[in-house]
Amino acid sequence: MQKQKTKILCTIGPSTWDENVLRSMVNEGMTIARINGAYADIAELKRVAATIRSISKNVALMLDIKGTEVRLNKFETPIPIKIGDEIVLGSSKQNAIYPVTYPELYKDLKPGDMLKLDDGKVSLRVQKIENQKIIAKVGQGREILPGKTINTPGIPLSNPPLTPTDIEQIKFAVNDNWDFVAASFVRNAQDIEEVKKHLGKSIIKVMAKIEDEQGTKNIDEIIDACDGIIIARGDMGVEMPYEQVPAIQKMMVQKCILKAKPAIVATHMLESMIENPNATRAEINDVANAIFDGTDCVWLSAETSKGKYPIEAVHTLKRISLEIEKHLMPEILHGDPDINPITVALARGVIDIVESVSIDKIIVATGTGKTARIISSFRPRQPIIALTSNETYKRQLQATWGITPIVLDTEVKDRDRGVKRIVKRVMAEKLVEPEDLVLVIRGTTPITKKTNSLEVGLAKDMAK
Ligand code: PEP
Repeated sequence: MQKQKTKILCTIGPSTWDENVLRSMVNEGMTIARINGAYADIAELKRVAATIRSISKNVALMLDIKGTEVRLNKFETPIPIKIGDEIVLGSSKQNAIYPVTYPELYKDLKPGDMLKLDDGKVSLRVQKIENQKIIAKVGQGREILPGKTINTPGIPLSNPPLTPTDIEQIKFAVNDNWDFVAASFVRNAQDIEEVKKHLGKSIIKVMAKIEDEQGTKNIDEIIDACDGIIIARGDMGVEMPYEQVPAIQKMMVQKCILKAKPAIVATHMLESMIENPNATRAEINDVANAIFDGTDCVWLSAETSKGKYPIEAVHTLKRISLEIEKHLMPEILHGDPDINPITVALARGVIDIVESVSIDKIIVATGTGKTARIISSFRPRQPIIALTSNETYKRQLQATWGITPIVLDTEVKDRDRGVKRIVKRVMAEKLVEPEDLVLVIRGTTPITKKTNSLEVGLAKDMAK
């Protein structure tokens, strides 16, 4: 069965707590399960991780920490508002009507500033700052709901990059061997370094969610500091003029391809499927265009966390991916001076060979996953099967386009036995047929651990 190359991230929530629903989503192609730290305590993180792991060893776990994201604190019931109402934001200690998660927000604001609540559904104009409280007038909106986000378009906030909850959640993810931490509202490389400080020796990968003007401005240093980018279009379209988001998406995806780091396009991809079994034509086009842009992975939020049709949403992404991927062409783009030039030259060779000889599958033996990511960044037409000896590195490749990752448990020291074992293993997994013409790229230990060889042959011959 043909597998889609574009990876699929699903947010887990009440709609996907059922094991059978999750299993169906994995069968449709979900490769990453994301848990939103804004809504989960440690017990919940544990529970979701255990369920996912009991269903599949190949699905990566991503913890989404909230960082500098500001929200309203929880209160009991929605509060109706109307245009012109005056409302008071602050901390609960200050007796504000609406307490916020960043009690010093008032320090970053001045009269005239605009605040957007609940994904932009409510807008407020700051009238005055008084006794550490923000007095603001409603410009748009009908109700204020507990726990909703507060955006401050164009206003840089000075809150620290991590909250105590983030740090507690990161520690848990490290100890419980999660695969990715996604940091929200990353403003610069320093914000990524702050996350890394808490990772110790863990090989967990840090993904930067770019959601505002500062993150967009500092995108180059952020890509260099992190392991991949999430283009968080929901907040970005509130923090910045929404008409700028499509070009920003293209720019960020291209920059990630140049550095062979995964790019994930997030939010509102199939928004109407929260309520309906079918996507709109515009949504189908949006997903298709993200794939044409070269995204590694597409991201579902409420569609799978609280939507009525989570399995259908993943199925829709699969159908669109399979169709659009037929139209993609390989392209050698490379802009990372840190990548070993021999690896890059060999990866170019892979594309040259698979385009001139009818190779069926590309097989990569990869230590940390880097060689596999470089080959993927050139977007070959053939499936890429990546073997690594580490379960975490394997799952981390689930964010990268076109790769089916598997584990080959031990390194083989003998040159010829090495390739035989690799091909036998992928045949045993039924990822390669005996008659397939395959290309194997690997490091021929003990000569070198670095990638240094390309071999081409029929799978059945190489497995002898
Ligand atoms: C977004 O804003 O698009 C996004 C992914 O962020 P959040 O985690 O707040 O949904």
